[in-house]
Amino acid sequence: MITKVFERIYSIPIRLPHNPLRNLNCYFIRGWGRHGKNLLIDTGFNMPECREDLRKGLSELNADLTKTDLFLTHLHADHTGLAAELEAAGAHILMGETDFAMLRKYKYDGPWRKCFPEYLGLGASEQEMELMMASTPARKYISSPFHAELVQNGDSLFYGGYHLTCVAAPGHTPGHICLYDAADRLMFLGDHVLFDITPNVTVWPEVKDSLGDYLNSLRKMEAYDVEIPLPAHRTTNGISMGTRVNELLVHHERRLGESYALLCRQPRQTCYQIAAQMTWKIRADDWSQFPPGQKIFALGETKSHLDHLVCSGKARCERSPDGNWRYSAVQRDAWDR
Ligand SMILES: [Zn+2]
Ligand SMILES: [Zn+2]
Repeated sequence: MITKVFERIYSIPIRLPHNPLRNLNCYFIRGWGRHGKNLLIDTGFNMPECREDLRKGLSELNADLTKTDLFLTHLHADHTGLAAELEAAGAHILMGETDFAMLRKYKYDGPWRKCFPEYLGLGASEQEMELMMASTPARKYISSPFHAELVQNGDSLFYGGYHLTCVAAPGHTPGHICLYDAADRLMFLGDHVLFDITPNVTVWPEVKDSLGDYLNSLRKMEAYDVEIPLPAHRTTNGISMGTRVNELLVHHERRLGESYALLCRQPRQTCYQIAAQMTWKIRADDWSQFPPGQKIFALGETKSHLDHLVCSGKARCERSPDGNWRYSAVQRDAWDR
């Protein structure tokens, strides 16, 4: 059911079947005045259920796509999956230049070694990597190529009487962008800050420390007065932005501690070995029972924590003759000094 979240702003729920995220909140800002364009934020996967929910929502709102711009917060398929179809129906697309360039460069429907080079050498068998890569929604439900007007940090957008500032929040993806309206203190958060689920932080080609970037982007949120946080998944459950940002910082601090303790227990472990020993909130008895599509997220998440330990001098990483990266702890007394 469509909900009005603020004056001229609506949330369209889009089902994400068989996905722990459950739904996407697609936001719609109704244009202001005779020539004002509408703004739609994010789309859902390229799959029938998402298409149906979005179509229904847009028709209930009486939205004319030729008078609607589409803003994509980041490159993930649950946010961009229907972009090409909406463009074909007349929508003009805006997207951050970094994520748009990554979509172009890595074309996520090619062989995984080319599309996801950052997953090489993690210690999983070739056969398991193939299975994981075949199951991830990041590849299954992507959009066909589309054009976009590129935006960057600090750019201003005007829709429905709102003055929206593009706020770069790299981490969840390298080019993730939130939209902030200072007058009404509201922020469209994409997946940068989610409230009853922790945003996935993973690894990216050409990014050395994505968790470090993510933590910096979380700390950057302190500079914004956000009364109405608008996350792309689930709800805020009445939790304030400041409280949630703190919870997320504490969460990653704890996970870093857990990863470091595992490295202290045994040196020269692969990312795969560490991931198998981490604690995960998932309905599976143990690591071997993880659905492959979730395992790949867990591997990426683990590697982002290991990379951050390496970048902050708390761990080191070397390549073994089998081609895998192996991580070891740098003893605490060496980095406390
Ligand atoms: Zn995402
Ligand atoms: Zn998402």
